[in-house]
Amino acid sequence: MSVWDALIGQEPVIEALAGAASTAAGVTGSGGLVATRATMTHSWLFTGPAGAGRSTAARAFAAALNCENSPPGCGGCHGCHTVLTDTASDLRSVRPEGLSLGVKDIRELVRDAASAPTSGRWRVLLLEDADRLTDQAANALLKALEEPAKRSVFLLCAPSVDDVLPTVRSRCRVVSLCLPTPTQVAAVLGRDGIDPALAQFAAQAAAGDVDRARSLATDEAARDRRTEVLRIPTRLQRTGDCLDAAADLVAAANADADAANTNRDEAETEALKISLGVGATSAGSTAKRARAPKPGAKTRAVTVRGAAGALKELAKTQKSRGRRTVLDSLDRALVDLAGWYRDVLVVQLGAPVDAIHPDQGDAVTRAARASTPEQTLHRLEAVLKYRRKLADNPALVPLLAIEALTLELRTG
Ligand SMILES: [Zn+2]
Repeated sequence: MSVWDALIGQEPVIEALAGAASTAAGVTGSGGLVATRATMTHSWLFTGPAGAGRSTAARAFAAALNCENSPPGCGGCHGCHTVLTDTASDLRSVRPEGLSLGVKDIRELVRDAASAPTSGRWRVLLLEDADRLTDQAANALLKALEEPAKRSVFLLCAPSVDDVLPTVRSRCRVVSLCLPTPTQVAAVLGRDGIDPALAQFAAQAAAGDVDRARSLATDEAARDRRTEVLRIPTRLQRTGDCLDAAADLVAAANADADAANTNRDEAETEALKISLGVGATSAGSTAKRARAPKPGAKTRAVTVRGAAGALKELAKTQKSRGRRTVLDSLDRALVDLAGWYRDVLVVQLGAPVDAIHPDQGDAVTRAARASTPEQTLHRLEAVLKYRRKLADNPALVPLLAIEALTLELRTG
């Protein structure tokens, strides 16, 4: 299985990346000419909507660059394997756990980029969510993009080119990924042994987002959450209903975040305390098995400000990560809701396209009869407006935003 098999419905992208990897191998390897128009460059920007597989594509490319076989990207050699499992010594990947990617992380990355690869052909610096770079961090990165080391390559991922500073964007070659079709997603889920009917439903409901489709196909709780969310439009007759629905939605997002983070937060804190030699509690606790939090930054913090400072910094990271999980969960809910109103509009206009939520046919038809296309369009726009507001404004209180939204969606 080649590294490109993980990319679904992205043939033009695969062709470009495989070509560049071949060129790169030709240039840095035997020095022989490679018969391809694709050229290699030091900075790449992978764009595309959530679920299109930006970071999957970037990682596949990173593997191909360090592949030991020809054509590059075999998926089986040591070079491919270590990149795909994140254990390659020449790969450094950074993903913000919280809401932003700060200058400290980037400075470390830039320092790494300056040195030659140790075992592979290329030193790869992979930045997931480059849209979360602070301006200061982006400027620190810019310097490295302007004067790249000979065998270093930066792979940045962001939803669109507009999500990174123009100065950064202009240094990168852009690779645009599109969302695969539900049929393509269903085929992949089927290949992984998921029942065809369930795979088709999940692929449809996720509207091409592979990760979301996989979660809907394999996690009953995720399916239940979706059902609850899609019930919201039909329960918004009175003001009180709207406020209740908003409270339920935010409570569910908070529960999601707690489930995802609580154990991890505690284990991290405990592991840090042990490494600092302070206040470690019981022996044999989960902390012993937990991986200590990222070493570099924290270790320096200890020497500068002592243990209390390090613990405070960790608490800050965890709080930011918790908030991000809440926002991610709300974002998924709003995408589902937008799909529901889109389906209503499709029925009202008699458009010959498939429903995103085929299991919601009755409720969607009732809503289509009870409202006008203008009202539906207004509601769909409201969902998208608050989705954008939550993404763009880190200071916004989620409950207030969702309450304002459900009041705009009111049907009574
Ligand atoms: Zn390989």
